[in-house]
Amino acid sequence: MASESSEQILQYVDAHCHLHDHRIAQDVPGIVQRAAATGVTCMVTCATMEENFGPTATLARQYLAIVPCYGIHPWFLDSLSPGWQQVLGDRVATEVCGIGETGLDFMDKNADRDLQMEVFTGHLSLARDLERPVNIHIRKAWDPFVRLLKKTGPLKTPGLVHSFSGSADMVKLLLRYNLYISFSGSVTRPGAKKVVKALKAVPGDRILLETDTPDIYPSVSDPDPHGLNEPKNLPAIAQIAAARAGVPVPDFVRQAYANALEIFAPIIPTDSSGRRC
Ligand SMILES: [Zn+2]
Repeated sequence: MASESSEQILQYVDAHCHLHDHRIAQDVPGIVQRAAATGVTCMVTCATMEENFGPTATLARQYLAIVPCYGIHPWFLDSLSPGWQQVLGDRVATEVCGIGETGLDFMDKNADRDLQMEVFTGHLSLARDLERPVNIHIRKAWDPFVRLLKKTGPLKTPGLVHSFSGSADMVKLLLRYNLYISFSGSVTRPGAKKVVKALKAVPGDRILLETDTPDIYPSVSDPDPHGLNEPKNLPAIAQIAAARAGVPVPDFVRQAYANALEIFAPIIPTDSSGRRC
């Protein structure tokens, strides 16, 4: 029982989720409440296309615990409006927010890789100009990502690579570019050898934790029957990740929380007493 009460005082920031998603949007009040009950007091929610910028902004206005990021996900480039850069730039310039989800995803061989590069580069330069953290998605595109980073140099304001799926060697490279490495429920999979090896390669002060809600439901012993992930599952992910990293759970969680406050400092709001999430 003692361990249960010490777990209660641990706090978490979900570094990457999608609370605007139509599968869960109607349940956000419950999601925020259940998250708070497990110590998840801050959720960085990422829009994925222009269409959901508005709903994401509304959630951030309604809940102090919800911190917005705006971006166009590489899966949804068909949705780009001719003026997307202006739309994104105006939104980010006038709100306390981060940038993303953005990135490169070369899983689909038919994807327009040049367009992905162009859009991602646009997001990175906006992040640089406005000094905002950027929430990055990379799948099967590590070499092009590194080539781009070599061209642009380290990020001016730190960013994160979400639900990391790269190698341990890639971790070492990315650290030089002012990037944090975020781990999702994929680290809880029984066969997650590569992810666990990467996790062990990340120094404690660069690790973040996320759920990617409503996707990547973690491998836990008591899953919800509806199968939709939510931020309340972050402590379960953290427990398994800590065990796999070989670090005591409280140390691991406190460090991940401190890291999140560090990277998201420019965009995490404070309440009337000056307390941050
Ligand atoms: Zn995502």
